[in-house]
Amino acid sequence: MNYQSTRSAAQASDIAAVLQGIAPDGGLYVDPDLAKRPFDWEACLSLSPLAAAEKILRHLLPEYQDMDKLVHAAYSGKFDSEALTPLVPVGDDYVLELFHGPTAAFKDVALSMLPQLVTAGRRQMGVEDRIVILTATSGDTGKAALEGFHDVDGTAIVVFFPADGVSPVQKAQMVTQTGANVRVCAVRGNFDDCQTGVKQAFAAIESSGALEGSGLRLSSANSINIGRLAPQVVYYFLAYGELVRRGALHCGQPVDFVVPTGNFGDILAGYFARLMGLPVGRLVCASNANRVLTDFLHTGVYDKRRDFLKTSSPSMDILVSSNLERLLFLASDGDTALVADCMRRLNQEGVYRLPASVLAKIREVFSAGCCDEEQTAETIGRIWREQGYLCDTHTAVAFHVAEAYKQQRDGNAPLVILSTASPFKFPAAVLSAIGGAPEGDEFQQMEALSRLSGLPIPSGLAGLREKEVLHRDTIDRNQILPYVLSCLKS
Ligand SMILES: *Cc1c(COP(=O)(O)O)cnc(C)c1O
Repeated sequence: MNYQSTRSAAQASDIAAVLQGIAPDGGLYVDPDLAKRPFDWEACLSLSPLAAAEKILRHLLPEYQDMDKLVHAAYSGKFDSEALTPLVPVGDDYVLELFHGPTAAFKDVALSMLPQLVTAGRRQMGVEDRIVILTATSGDTGKAALEGFHDVDGTAIVVFFPADGVSPVQKAQMVTQTGANVRVCAVRGNFDDCQTGVKQAFAAIESSGALEGSGLRLSSANSINIGRLAPQVVYYFLAYGELVRRGALHCGQPVDFVVPTGNFGDILAGYFARLMGLPVGRLVCASNANRVLTDFLHTGVYDKRRDFLKTSSPSMDILVSSNLERLLFLASDGDTALVADCMRRLNQEGVYRLPASVLAKIREVFSAGCCDEEQTAETIGRIWREQGYLCDTHTAVAFHVAEAYKQQRDGNAPLVILSTASPFKFPAAVLSAIGGAPEGDEFQQMEALSRLSGLPIPSGLAGLREKEVLHRDTIDRNQILPYVLSCLKS
């Protein structure tokens, strides 16, 4: 029983936590002793990416047997870089490219691994039930989850995406997904509508006992699942090891990371790495114009009562960052009553205020900044002209925040900017930012971007246009529950 809910004393083994996704009380599973359990982090630095992943995942999810096999099945031959997540110097800083997986987005790192954890967990626990993955996506999770779970024995997956909240390429990636065990459905509304609807459907089905005796059980591929978060811890170690190898620092010196943030999963994985001993200096949370987290980290007040803005970095268009709940738990030394109260207030009143002591603890490690639409475009153009590096809109948000952060920080630790998507996933915004004309549809824009930049279109995106559309369902948010129930029956 190494995992605990953020909202009560409810416990689960790591395997049970992966299979359940969310705790029965609505909380998220956390390992409260992560910082206390000894971990030889230095030994990770000289390992190959897959061996490091195995060692780190064994520590985070100790009950799994055969982690080596699971890691190989997840990653061998699936990423277009031996390094998995290559570190690229850009100016004085480094960019950690997390988008070399099958769908050209950083979600691949976690969602290549999650199906392995789900199927192995099922085997190990002797679970006969089929695991049905329910997922709300702001664009990238959906495709990466479909890619990971399609035709995986003992699983099925239902993905909901906001009808006008994803890019045409993201939509094309999802609605052309093949596989006998997949369903994809558009929801009228924004990502928060979609995510809230899926959470409510999940809770309603669980609490009604509707699945008892059906041979089915629900789980989630959203980053609320600890099986999603754990694989993301790995690349912080890989980046650090690479900096040591390049002589950019001595082992033990801190590194700052700037993370383009939405649901707070990516950056929280950096905090986990820090709890495991890795010399992570500061974690800088970069938001787009939806600056809820920036305001929160500056004031301690989380206030979602504001307009939801649609930006050119849609995977970060989020007002409720689910994984922040885990940070509240860890920073308050496991004060489940506090966390449950904050989450209840957020749900009912749309706002909560953190006690000053907990905020202070968080601010010992976290900084924050945001970037509006104009700054995003300006940054893409400038980094391209001055450094010859082409970045996507999400990464540009992080670049901009990194520049502001460097002006005001103490010290000069090496700085790593996490890059979460290939620029070809957002071709119109990137093309116009570097002076091209975004004409035609997104597929033509990808080609124009390739011509202008001299870079190849990633293999997962090339050829999308010719694929057949297989999923056409569109529903209102209040139809999510009946839709899920009908999927479960068939
Ligand atoms: C999901 C996503 C993010 C945000 O990551 P979180 O873990 O949700 O904070 C940023 N950029 C891209 C491209 C993404 O797909």
